[in-house]
Amino acid sequence: MAAEQTEPGEALVGPTLVVGAGQAGISLVTALRELGDDQPVVLVGDEPESPYERPPLSKTYLRGEHDRASLHFRDSGWFAEHGVELLTGEAVVDIERGPTGGRAVTSAGRRVDFTRLALTTGAANRSLPVEGAQLEGLHSVRTLADADRLAPELRTAGHVVVIGGGFIGLEVAADARAEGASVTVVEAAERVLGRAVTATLSDFVREAHERRGTRILLGANVVRLTGRGGRVTGVTLADGTELRADVVVVGIGAVPRTELADQLGLAVDPAGIVVDEHARTSDGLTVAAGDCAVGPNPFGRGLPGPTRLESVPHATDQARAAAATLAGQPTAYAAVPWFWSDQADLRLQMAGLPQGADHEVVRGDVAAERFSVLSYRNGLLLAVESVGSSADYLAVKRALEKGMTIAADAAADSTVPLKRLISRPVDTRSS
Ligand code: NAP
Repeated sequence: MAAEQTEPGEALVGPTLVVGAGQAGISLVTALRELGDDQPVVLVGDEPESPYERPPLSKTYLRGEHDRASLHFRDSGWFAEHGVELLTGEAVVDIERGPTGGRAVTSAGRRVDFTRLALTTGAANRSLPVEGAQLEGLHSVRTLADADRLAPELRTAGHVVVIGGGFIGLEVAADARAEGASVTVVEAAERVLGRAVTATLSDFVREAHERRGTRILLGANVVRLTGRGGRVTGVTLADGTELRADVVVVGIGAVPRTELADQLGLAVDPAGIVVDEHARTSDGLTVAAGDCAVGPNPFGRGLPGPTRLESVPHATDQARAAAATLAGQPTAYAAVPWFWSDQADLRLQMAGLPQGADHEVVRGDVAAERFSVLSYRNGLLLAVESVGSSADYLAVKRALEKGMTIAADAAADSTVPLKRLISRPVDTRSS
């Protein structure tokens, strides 16, 4: 099953077309092969790189601690051996499909005919809509090329301003502090990591960064970037504050890439391409997975309703469900979400989703930066957030995966390992 080589402009009959060669795209292709599906695949990615891991880009890779080659998931031999034609540096710009297949055209003018279609198009970083946003020295982090541009500048910058106190912003802020820069994080909301974590963890994270010398401004809005000779020198806030900046990093969220879904007439809402629990889009044929898709909450607890989870485990698991659908072996996507973030010497680990919680238990020692926050709704465990407490994180993740709980009153006693407290939920009907 050798992959065919094609030239731009040449038609290629690829029974399965996967558009987007990020985490979801490569996971989907891998899952197809694991399911025994041996139809040829064309995997198209608009970056010049073969698929690679993104998490190190704002962590070890940015600090120069991660070898570039080891970021790539597969070598070129793997694609050839598995019947996958990988097209890099080409975007699908035009697409149409009917019930039995369709046709795509890439930016290089290559035509790909397909019978099955997967959209794993990811998300694009939101850009900062202010004057001065075109200045040199302004960065965002999504691609390897972004990290390659930022890393050397971060090493020599005296003053770094990070706009956005989300995961990207805080990870990069910690890296910049480690390089010795004076760092200010400007967050528009009243909390850092506001969308993702409990107020307890958010407050801890802010204070932990402040203890390490990072200045964090909440409820702060950037109105202008100033510069000299085409290069950024400062950031102006709405209250008139002027921040000195040699480098500005913007991490203000990401927008799902839905242009092709729009062309195909698929249901799309602001959160992404609408999919069901089998990763099927509204045409019932095309699948979508990862950052571009919004679907039913795969976690049986907490707030129901459409969910777009922007994380590696989610992209991998949803892509597996999408592959199963394409292979004619549909399996509903159900999983306990989990996340991690390394910020300075802190390791944050999270499992479940705390949104909708009505009670929380903090165990461990917050001052010593080793603790966990367990979130509950109607007495049922929803989520854990751990700092330097991997055993707590693992116990809760395992409990959630088995449909179990941990009684809140018992969990508060940090002398007892959580893994000993896992029990069957008494009643989950009201959750
Ligand atoms: P993010 O996690 O959504 O955080 C963006 C933050 O910027 C939010 O707190 C947001 O506040 C704030 N913000 C929005 N507009 C702003 C403005 N004009 N000025 C100042 N602050 C503003 O997004 P991200 O950090 O850019 O990361 C991009 C994606 O990569 C996310 O999906 C993230 O989860 C993912 N990622 C994950 C990890 C990890 O899991 N460790 C690491 C890196 C990246 P509002 O919420 O109020 O809009």
